[in-house]
Amino acid sequence: MRMLISVETKVIAEGLFAPRANGKVVGMRKILVVVDMQKDFIDGALGTAEAQKIVEPVIEKMKRYDRPDIYVTRDTHSENYLETAEGKKLPVVHCVRGTKGWQLHPEIEALTGPSHILDKPTFGSLELMELLRQENEKESLEIELVGLCTDICVVSNAMLLKAAMPEITIRVDPLCCAGVTPKSHQAALLTMKMCQIEIA
Ligand SMILES: [Zn+2]
Repeated sequence: MRMLISVETKVIAEGLFAPRANGKVVGMRKILVVVDMQKDFIDGALGTAEAQKIVEPVIEKMKRYDRPDIYVTRDTHSENYLETAEGKKLPVVHCVRGTKGWQLHPEIEALTGPSHILDKPTFGSLELMELLRQENEKESLEIELVGLCTDICVVSNAMLLKAAMPEITIRVDPLCCAGVTPKSHQAALLTMKMCQIEIA
């Protein structure tokens, strides 16, 4: 018996087969989600000094991930933005498809595979949620989110991912996010922490 355990341990250590739980391989693929690092949120229509400060840290973090493990969202509106529900509450035209303000920060875009850029019509991306849910079926994920704005699109996507994958670790790096205001940034971090999203 003792010998059997030791053989098994050795085989696992040598990676001949991966440990399993409920028949599923327990890998740990680390995914980075970069939310809405677009000109209009950095230094355009809705830009802030805080948003500009996180550009470099976000780029540095992206460099630590493998390119296929990075997903980037892009807030995407049409010409009729002001007539949409979002536009009625936030009447500042931004991120209209094809405009300068809609573009991702060029260095961030350069670090992303084109098929991993997901356009979303409003705060949360159902497409991102579904895509990562499927990836998590193949291999267990750990997801980190960064980007803009903490209190709108980062929190929306973190909550969607948490709902779709309640058993995995979802983390938000507070130093790589910025809110509409520093106060609402802090409030969103607290809300996410209460919902068991790691803030680190
Ligand atoms: Zn928007």
